[in-house]
Amino acid sequence: MPPTLEATLAEWDGEQVLLRRDHETGAWAIIAIHSTALGPACGGTRMRGYPSLQRAVADALALAAGMTLKFAAVDFAAGGGKAVIWAPPGLTPEARDGLLRRHGEHIRRLGGLFRTGPDVGTSPRDMDLIAERGAPYVFCTSSSAGAEGSAPLTAVGVFAAVELLCARARADGVRGAHVAVQGVGSVGRDLVRRLLEAGARVTIADVDADAAARFSGRAGVSIVSVDALLTTECDVLSPCALGGVLSARTIAGLRCRAIAGAANNMLAAPQDAARLRERGILYAPDFLVNIGGALGNTGIEALGWSKEQAVRRVRAAVRDNLREVIARAERRGRTTEEEARALARARLLKEGT
Ligand code: NAD
Repeated sequence: MPPTLEATLAEWDGEQVLLRRDHETGAWAIIAIHSTALGPACGGTRMRGYPSLQRAVADALALAAGMTLKFAAVDFAAGGGKAVIWAPPGLTPEARDGLLRRHGEHIRRLGGLFRTGPDVGTSPRDMDLIAERGAPYVFCTSSSAGAEGSAPLTAVGVFAAVELLCARARADGVRGAHVAVQGVGSVGRDLVRRLLEAGARVTIADVDADAAARFSGRAGVSIVSVDALLTTECDVLSPCALGGVLSARTIAGLRCRAIAGAANNMLAAPQDAARLRERGILYAPDFLVNIGGALGNTGIEALGWSKEQAVRRVRAAVRDNLREVIARAERRGRTTEEEARALARARLLKEGT
């Protein structure tokens, strides 16, 4: 039995959840504000289908909590939030546009408590619609400095993590390494491009055959089935699709030495971090690795960083945190996930570690 909505909300340790029924379309729009301890809650607006309202709310709550950890881990003055819109299938373009405009109105009324950008299922054009009523609390509109969306800077961070893991395992680092990438959407395809430029060999899979086919015939790229990808023998596995991919079942079949990817909440359950450690697989905690888009674009749009500064800051943040967390995990005999959470929590509470 899935948990009830009440139990899901009761278990959450965040500040508040705003739940709005969009009567015009029948959609549900959820804004979860997990923490404003370090600054206004920032997080993308995700739009997709869910099997139930409980699942949509649970996704928003988990993603908002992840944003708190991400920003705290890099000591950035922003809090954790997330918006999830569970829209009914088959909306007309006009109905969808109206839904996004009303979401913008909802954000404006919060007066800056929550700021948003694109996420799974939304684009910079969608941010234009949200910003019509939600400005100035909307990032990555199509005319802004962050118009490319968050994926390119997220890929910068994931690539930095993969490089670091390869450098620990191989004399040649990423050159000649074999990386398996699950999902070649916005982040995954940019990551693959960077890996190929750096001389890596890449195996990819995507449930969307067209997305994978963009790489067919490219030197250095093999395309395999979605099922085969997770058991591909490789140096680094990079999950860049959806969360929950590392479970007791999948971990048992992995043949990688390390994991670093873009997907949020990739551990299906907290015990999966220990399962990976027992199997000798070095796991780079997702919220340390996939901060690039959120950090870089917030820096560009709110603090006036140049693109080059954003790339430098993202690379440094990912590498420094990952090095620190791996060293602590080895020293203390704990999982990298435990150490990453401890590091983020200490920074959130402004404690020494
Ligand atoms: P996207 O929707 O553009 O791409 C995801 C790709 O994964 C799609 O091509 C989809 O077909 C594929 N996919 C879905 N299920 C799959 C499966 N079981 N096996 C293989 N492929 C599968 O999303 P994105 O923006 O590239 O983000 C990827 C992941 O990274 C998501 O989990 C997202 O939450 C996370 N993330 C993204 C960003 C960002 O800046 N875009 C930032 C942080 C985290």
